[in-house]
Amino acid sequence: MKYIMGVDGGGTHSRVLVTDLNGNEIYQGIGKSTNIESNSLETVQKNFKDLFQEFHNKSDYSKEECISICVGTAGADTPEAVDLITGLISNLGYTCFIEVLNDSEIALAAETKGKPGIIIISGTGSIGFGVNEFGEKWRVGGFGYLVGDEGSGYWVARKGIGAALQDFDHSGDKTMLTEMLKEHLKLERFDKILDFIYSANKSEIAKLATLVIQGCEQGDIVSKEIMDSAAAYLARMVITLARELQMTTQSCPVIYGGGFLTNSMCLCSSISDRILTKYPLLKPFLLKNEAQWGAIYIAANKAGIKI
Ligand code: BGC
Repeated sequence: MKYIMGVDGGGTHSRVLVTDLNGNEIYQGIGKSTNIESNSLETVQKNFKDLFQEFHNKSDYSKEECISICVGTAGADTPEAVDLITGLISNLGYTCFIEVLNDSEIALAAETKGKPGIIIISGTGSIGFGVNEFGEKWRVGGFGYLVGDEGSGYWVARKGIGAALQDFDHSGDKTMLTEMLKEHLKLERFDKILDFIYSANKSEIAKLATLVIQGCEQGDIVSKEIMDSAAAYLARMVITLARELQMTTQSCPVIYGGGFLTNSMCLCSSISDRILTKYPLLKPFLLKNEAQWGAIYIAANKAGIKI
């Protein structure tokens, strides 16, 4: 029987959804990161292989029966990266349509099904993306943890750890984060955090961002400054997208996605306050549908099927 596959590839996990040609779910699976910016090509190839193989192992569906695959993944940031990722998937023996997009594009489609809208994602990384009524697209940020990803979990955690280190060596302000990090990581001395930092991966560091949210809720000024600046960056992404896509004078959905953003109501409302002051017609809300459904929608469209 013929089927469609949609993948949501985040900085930490990837999720695959398989449906029949009417959009009925056949299978959901979870695997490792498909981001080529933080993993070797060999690792990403293997992670795709494992993700898809598990579906084939657990079902009778063959690769030949697949009619369309859409992958939205972190790290699909340039046409060259898209070609590389497309190649990794065709290497696995699928001969159907294969479309590779950035993770923000499928998350937006999950909610808007091709209609105009804006999305910001803040998970391990961050990005903003939008499409207007003329089908014009614009993208802001999402340049990865080394040079960008402002307002993301990784960025907030890095700022929090940096501030705690400056508290530790007395060059910065006092912050609750120092004790919180020490306790959370069970460090016997605070400078041992360096051993953790230089052996941890990006997503392990990003997870520490929840301590900055807690610090903020408990009135820590340093944590609040970090969260305010995350909100300002993310709000600026939305404002830029609305302006570039000329979506400031009409009601336009603004979707908040990504684990870090959707788990911090405080961050969401701080972004909303900023964007609504500037453009009151924008309509912010949390991503409700799983992003892999957006990939299914796009994969079906590509194969000429309406679901
Ligand atoms: C990646 C982008 C991605 C964003 C959100 C960034 O680190 O470079 O490709 O869209 O995170 O997941």
